Amino acid sequence: MRVDIVTIFPDYFSVLDLSLLGKARSHGLIDVRVHDLRDATTDRHRTVDDTPYGGGAGMVMTPEPWGRTLDAILGATAPDPLASPGVDGVAADDAPTDVAAPGVPSLVSHDDRERPLVVFPSPAGAPFTQATARRYAAESHIVFGCGRYEGIDHRVFEDTARRARVELVSLGDYVLNGGEVAVLAMVEAFGRLLPGVVGNPESLVEESHEDGLLEYPSYTKPATWRGLEVPAVLLSGHHARVAEWRHEQQIERTRAVRPDLLAGRADAAE
Ligand code: SAM
Repeated sequence: MRVDIVTIFPDYFSVLDLSLLGKARSHGLIDVRVHDLRDATTDRHRTVDDTPYGGGAGMVMTPEPWGRTLDAILGATAPDPLASPGVDGVAADDAPTDVAAPGVPSLVSHDDRERPLVVFPSPAGAPFTQATARRYAAESHIVFGCGRYEGIDHRVFEDTARRARVELVSLGDYVLNGGEVAVLAMVEAFGRLLPGVVGNPESLVEESHEDGLLEYPSYTKPATWRGLEVPAVLLSGHHARVAEWRHEQQIERTRAVRPDLLAGRADAAE
């Protein structure tokens, strides 16, 4: 899988050389290329921002360096005059990708599937979830564009949508200084789902959010530590009872901290 990342802080991504993703990169399972947006500037100061039209605080990233950088990555395909979708959000994760969330114009149609995917992290985007991570892990090429300042000139999304599938994706309901941390989180979340990245693929199946619930508590040796015992059922060797206990723990934990995840689940009815 190929991943291109556009940023004004390429050094942020040096951590992708570490740990499981670092190994995956060195084994050729994931090909990450980081591009410095400032390399596409033409002035002495390598400027990438300017004041917002209409006034307001802060600066906005100018479209030209974005256009040049994305042209170089995606190929400077001639804009399709028929494709001019508004860019306000993305197709919902749980829906087929050609169905937009209500009130949100979809940027994706059936014919689009062969187009590259370009993801712009944004607090105004659709939430990034485990379902998004799974979907991204099935892509062959994703380009990420890291915003800074007050964000990127909106026309960059519109221009990119003429030749790629564009998604605005949020890491959560808070505001970061830039898209770099969001991209790192997303790359780690889908990168570990790529075949061969995590040694034991079964460990991926039993994790929080994979079955819509939070994971059960885990224990290892010693069986007694500082007077605290491992639950007896886990020492019983009785697989069915262990599975039942774990499922109960999942429901209990999810009910305590994320009751929203239980809506409509028959196994969680009280
Ligand atoms: N003015 C923007 C707004 O209110 O929506 C926030 C801009 S933020 C200071 C700068 C950049 O950080 C954004 O363009 C985006 O790339 C990134 N960012 C901030 N919060 C984020 C979040 N929750 N999820 C994903 N990216 C985020």
